[in-house]
This record gives sequence, C-alpha cells and structure tokens, in this order.
Amino acid sequence: MTTANDAALTGLSLQAASLELQAGAISSRQLTEACLARIAATDGRVGAFLAVTGERALQQADRSDRRRAAGGALGPLDGVPLAVKDLFLTRGVPTTAGSRILEGFVPPYDATAVTRLEAAGAVLLGKLNLDEFAMGSSNEHSAYRPCRNPWDLTRTPGGSSGGSAAALSARQCFGTLGTDTGGSIRLPASFCGVVGLKPTYGRVSRYGVIAFASSLDQPGPLGRTTWDVAALLGAIAGPDPHDLTCAARPADDYLAALEGGARGLRIGVPREWFGGGLQPEVEARVREALTTYQRLGATLVEISLPHSRYGIAAYYLIATAEASANLARYDGVRFGLRAPGVRALQELYSESREQGFGAEPKRRIMLGTYALSAGYHDAYYLRAQKVRTLIRRDFDAAFGRCDVVAGPVAPGPAFKLGERTGDPLQMYLADIFTITCNLAALPGLSVPCGLARGLPVGLQLVGRPFDEATLLKAARALERELGPAPVPAALEAAP
Ligand code: GLN
Repeated sequence: MTTANDAALTGLSLQAASLELQAGAISSRQLTEACLARIAATDGRVGAFLAVTGERALQQADRSDRRRAAGGALGPLDGVPLAVKDLFLTRGVPTTAGSRILEGFVPPYDATAVTRLEAAGAVLLGKLNLDEFAMGSSNEHSAYRPCRNPWDLTRTPGGSSGGSAAALSARQCFGTLGTDTGGSIRLPASFCGVVGLKPTYGRVSRYGVIAFASSLDQPGPLGRTTWDVAALLGAIAGPDPHDLTCAARPADDYLAALEGGARGLRIGVPREWFGGGLQPEVEARVREALTTYQRLGATLVEISLPHSRYGIAAYYLIATAEASANLARYDGVRFGLRAPGVRALQELYSESREQGFGAEPKRRIMLGTYALSAGYHDAYYLRAQKVRTLIRRDFDAAFGRCDVVAGPVAPGPAFKLGERTGDPLQMYLADIFTITCNLAALPGLSVPCGLARGLPVGLQLVGRPFDEATLLKAARALERELGPAPVPAALEAAP
C-alpha cells in the first residue's frame, strides 16, 4: 500500500532526497521502503523492473543509516535508492540482458559502475527492463515483459534503456544507469520526460557491462534533474584498470560547474537536424528552447553536419558487425541457456542460440556476419568506418565555431506500442538524430523541453569530447527556466 507520505518521498528529486537524509529528516530505510511500495503499486502496469532486490536493498539502507548515525556518511548518494539496467553485471543477482539466452545467469562480479555506486553508499533496488542485448528503440524487444511509458501506458518508454527512464518518471527510484550505443539513454529520457546523459566514449568504464557494439557502447546516468545526473556521473566516471578503452583522465566536478548559466555559450544548430521526418510540435519545442537560450545570453550559430545522413547506414554496419562478434560467446556452454536433448556439439551451439536469442539479435547477428564475411568486409565494414571518420570531422569542424550542438533527440514523441515492431527500418529511424554522437564518440544529453500532444519532448545537446560539464551546465540553465518538469498523471488514475 502506498501512503501519502510515501508519495511525498518518492516524488523528491535525488538531490532533495539526499538533502533530507543529510538533515536527518528521513532515513534511508524510509526512502527505500517508499520506493519498494511504489514499485509494488505501479510496476504491474509499468514493467520497468525485471528483478526487485528488496531484501538486499533494505540491508544496504540500514547500513547507510548506521554509517550516517556514526558520523561517517559518504556523500550525496549515500542511502539513496537507485536501479540499473539489466545489462550491468551484479554479483549474486541474476543478469539477463533482457534475453532468454541469459536466463538464470548469476554473475560472479559487479560492473565497475555498480561497484562505484555501492562504494558511494547507494541502495540498489533491482534490475531494469531493456531491449534484448540493448538492441532496440522501444523496449519491445525485451524477452521478458513489455515496459510502458508512465505518461501514456499505451505507448513505448523508448529503448533500449526503457526501464531506466520509465522507473524514474514513475517515481519508483531516484536515479538509474542505462547504456547508449546509438541513442539508448537519450531516446528513453526524451520519451519519458527525464534527463539522460550518454558520456564521451571512455568516460565511464564498460567493465561488467554486457557488450553489444564495443566501439560505441557507453554507460551513463538518468535522473529527474540535471543535478541528479551530475551527481551520478561524478560517482561512476573515471579511469578503470579493468577497461583499457576507459580514459585515464579523472572525472570532473560536475556539480561544481552546474550553475554556470548559458551566458556567452555558442550553440550550434545543425541544418540537417531540422528537416525530413521531424514532427512540427517537436520542432516547435526545440526552437522555443533555442530562443530561451538566446534570452539567457547564448548565441545561436548555424552549422552543418553534412555526413549525418549516412549515420544510420554506417551505424547498422558497425553495430551489427561488432554485435555478431560479441554475441558469439553465447554458445550454450559457458553462460545461461543450454538446449536440452542435443547429441552433438554443433547441435548444442545452434539449438541453444536458436532457442535463446530473439528475432532482433538474430537479425543483427546475420547482418553483422554478412558485413564481415570474406569479400564484403572492405565494401561494408571498412567503408562504414571511413564514414564514421567523416562524421567525426563534421563535429570537429563545428566545434571550432560553437561550444555545444543542439537539436531534437527524436523526430517525434513516444510512439504507440506495436506501431513499429513489424517494420525494423521505421524502428531504426527513431535514432536518426542520436546515432552520430555515438559514431563520433562524443557526449550527448537529453533534457526535457516541454510537451507535444501531452507527451514529453527532449532537447539534445552534444558536446566536445570529455566536456560533459558544459552539457550539464547548459541543460541546467534551460531546466531552471522551464521549472520543474511536469509529472505524468496516467499512473495515478485507477488501474
Ligand atoms: N536503437 C539502436 C539500436 O537498436 C540503439 C540501441 C542502443 O543505443 N543500445 O541499435
């Protein structure tokens, strides 16, 4: 049963919850119990969680309360209930990647990002729903359960980190982690009206994050406010000896830089991001946000990213090629599902993969294997890598004239469940504005900028490498102007 008091607690931002803890006004146990009650009351309808680790969360909460009572509180995340996408390995807690092929897999170690949240004293409530192996834009490729958008339960929360965004907008927790290979943090953040940050490639360790496309994958935080996201990024970013692609450069103090405002900021507006399928209501919200920035003392600079139109094509060659290699390890021998009743090794491999993988990973394995096959490698994979370099150069040139690039996250707000499942290409097009940022290895953020037909719209900001601080500062300036993001009402109606 959720009480009025619980509702007041779960409605707090991470920052507000943290301040209440520091003031001794509430305990971590109270916060954790309120979140667990909220999950119990709402997740039958939302489907954000694949596993809730209530017992373990309450133990962590009690430890945090004892630490605080003894004067040894750890920082802003101490005692705050969070949850992570089920792509992050969690020691002793089943981790599925949203796939049947990992059903029952219990990792022997934690992802670095999880270790760091726990070292900061955070409470982990459970594992969040996603598209199978993070392949998708709507969470509809989850092998376990659908995830719905708390703003409208007939719509997708976006994907692949759908659970990570839906849980926040449903007030089930105070912060989450997702991963973004082509848009999977920013798209759901935009669809659910929360803030999501895909850090620079190499900013956050990928150690213990189940691999999809290793040269693109990047873990990052989602929160209800920019402050919340800055605090989470500060906890998880930084070098990690376990991941050699993780940068040696230490994390910045993202909270210290947050209130710098937008005065003097040069905002690049790419011509190519405002054409084609961009829906007028979304364009209107994005343009209003740009006008707000001007009013705050920023200047708008028209820029061009001429190679962005090759982004989707290059991405679906590179991502599928890398996925086909990464997914080769699921062979029925070492992890998860093993097909019963087989007689030969080859049959064990093929039957386990046939039964364990859903349609989307199979499609990607086939596309990727083809793109890498003898005689085609240079024509596809190598060519796509060259396009990737051109895309990166477009951004490098743009950053000579501006400090951040701004535009829409997606062509439209959250679409209906089932609307695109029959047409993979339509699904892939949801990422048309987010994918180039991954190909160029840059940081990108989605911040709410209003509603279109009653549904949230996100403004996308892309920054220079390792300049997450400027993205957060710019997003904060807009957030302050727009005031607290509206709360979805769909969940409060009778079930
Ligand atoms: N929607 C894109 C895909 O399906 C991106 C997914 C992601 O960022 N993990 O590959």
